[in-house]
Amino acid sequence: MSTSFQQPQLRVDQVTKRYGEQRVVDRLSFELYPGECLGVIGPNGAGKTTTFRMCLGLSQPDQGSIEFFGMPMPQQALAIKARVGVVSQFDALDPDFNCAENLLVYGRYFGLRDALIRSRIPTLLEFAALSHKAQARPGELSGGMKRRLSLARALINDPQLLMLDEPTTGLDPQARHLMWERLLQLLGQGKSILLTTHFMDEAERLCDRLLVIDHGRKIAEGRPRELIQQHLEPDVVEVYGSNPLALAQGPLAAHAQRVEVSGETVFFYTQNAHALLAALESRLDLRTLHRPANLEDLFLKLTGRQIREGA
Ligand code: ADP
Repeated sequence: MSTSFQQPQLRVDQVTKRYGEQRVVDRLSFELYPGECLGVIGPNGAGKTTTFRMCLGLSQPDQGSIEFFGMPMPQQALAIKARVGVVSQFDALDPDFNCAENLLVYGRYFGLRDALIRSRIPTLLEFAALSHKAQARPGELSGGMKRRLSLARALINDPQLLMLDEPTTGLDPQARHLMWERLLQLLGQGKSILLTTHFMDEAERLCDRLLVIDHGRKIAEGRPRELIQQHLEPDVVEVYGSNPLALAQGPLAAHAQRVEVSGETVFFYTQNAHALLAALESRLDLRTLHRPANLEDLFLKLTGRQIREGA
């Protein structure tokens, strides 16, 4: 949990990155406090990966500064990396080594003694639910197993802070749940996590705080529940019909504070859904879903409903 009087473990201060004329990260500032999970969310092209890469020292900011544990990145990259664990989006595991060997080789990059690494391997494989796969090579593992091996590998130096780039992208529901459980376990041990994600359910489950960015700028920051309360009406009634635009402009809209249309769905956002639900009772031709406002709604409100491809 974050407490403002603690020193942040990561401080990104007024960071700007330009590619040609475009500012892909624009005076971005945020902090990560000990033991908290901070999620960075934003549409494609928002600048998440660029920010992540600058934090890893892989790319240099044009302006501003990045500090981990009070040490500047990239000037003190080695000392910082000794205390940080990284799981990138693509599992860069060594295909020629088995799981245990992958951990051993990675531990050596940090200059750890073999005896120390070997003593950590069984616990880490168990943590990753991979004890039975110690001798298997990455090519023999499922996507979820590979991602958990990457996580185990990132823990070999017993880091205080973890940086995870889309930790569950491409995983099936079981594998995602197992990954979430493990990440919550790490937070329970007092580690801090900075993660990027496209999944609002993941952000809501794991993150103490969220940073919403778009066009390289911070557009919102706060605890998920508080952001939802701050920006949205509490109730949402989704209505699915054949003529969504007519529905959105029809008499039902009188019962909502805000109406949005996306594809064949009309979203009615309201302070009180009773009148709207009563009006919908006679409309047997429509399917409806009444639910509380969630992070997906927040994301769509703040960043727009248009899907941004590629970028
Ligand atoms: P996100 O991870 O949020 O999808 P990125 O950080 O990958 O966003 O990209 C932000 C913007 O920066 C995009 O418009 C992208 O095209 C641009 N960009 C990223 N890397 C480079 C690069 N090496 N050269 C030029 N433009 C880049």
